[in-house]
Amino acid sequence: MDEFELIRRYFARSGRDPSIVLGIGDDGAIVRPDADRELVIVIDTMVEGVHYPSGLDASDIGYRAVAVNLSDIAAMAARPRWMTLALTLAGDDAGWLDGFSRGLFEAADEFSVPLIGGDTTRGDQTVITVQITGDVMPSKALRRSGAKPGDDIYVTGTPGDAAAGLALLQSNTVHNENQRQLLRRFARPAPRVALAGEVASYASAAIDVSDGLFADIEKLLVASGAGGVIELDDLPLSVPLVAVQGKASAIELALGGGDDYEIVFTAAAAQAPAIAEVAKRLSVAVSKIGSVSKGDALQCVKGGRKFAYRHAGYRHFAEASDD
Ligand code: ADP
Ligand code: MG
Repeated sequence: MDEFELIRRYFARSGRDPSIVLGIGDDGAIVRPDADRELVIVIDTMVEGVHYPSGLDASDIGYRAVAVNLSDIAAMAARPRWMTLALTLAGDDAGWLDGFSRGLFEAADEFSVPLIGGDTTRGDQTVITVQITGDVMPSKALRRSGAKPGDDIYVTGTPGDAAAGLALLQSNTVHNENQRQLLRRFARPAPRVALAGEVASYASAAIDVSDGLFADIEKLLVASGAGGVIELDDLPLSVPLVAVQGKASAIELALGGGDDYEIVFTAAAAQAPAIAEVAKRLSVAVSKIGSVSKGDALQCVKGGRKFAYRHAGYRHFAEASDD
């Protein structure tokens, strides 16, 4: 099938969104943004074998390509509006394309973000780039840079699950329900768009967790010119993660695993009741896991004692030998 047939068959779904003046089919899409909104633009590329293993189900690849972008939209507290897709394919495997487009539109429908254009090319390996434009009320977007000493640090969901799921997928050992749940957390990230949109009124800064909780909190703190503490006893570890990995390894994966697509945000202590109310109403787990401090160091504390967390090379804990 040629490129035009491929686009027509798998991607040219007519969107009914009134903000789309012109969708797929011309040289460019035309959209009509709402008056008095700022636009937030995010883009993420997934390379087969680098960002996901070749064995991942095609529909999961499609869903995930959208979800990781929605996670960036969530981190900015924006509302997703329009999506474009640049696809490089080694072949035109109809079964794969069918699964991929199904997963992609599943996420698109779930989060109301229509596909309005893209590009399709042939190459040596599968490369998927999704770009999403979101919108937000002027000056209401969350940034990494707003955290203040004394603020609480929160995380959504249960970090560490996705990394454990990826490891299980790579070693081909998904046999029981706990393992299946962990795999699903890698395959189907749950971008926290609604939660982030609502806590934005109370939060001072936010980032999404893609590279690992510790590393991403560090990025937020660097942007904010502050330091912080993570209370390891307060990390929200999922039941499947602890069952499959054991407690020590679960903590390690929660801190350093990556691929979580959860949101870390900071907020003044006085906002705690409002944040708890939003979390409860939207049925999203939100856990306070630490606090922002002066200085520029991010430390981990467990059982009241400082732990040196090393996230270079093999990740593990060691009790701090000094200070
Ligand atoms: P051009 O030759 O002008 O670059 P294309 O043939 O690449 O145009 O694309 C034709 C139309 O199909 C455009 O509207 C483009 O946005 C859309 N399109 C191409 N590839 C995709 C894709 N993978 N997903 C969605 N729309 C696509
Ligand atoms: Mg053209």
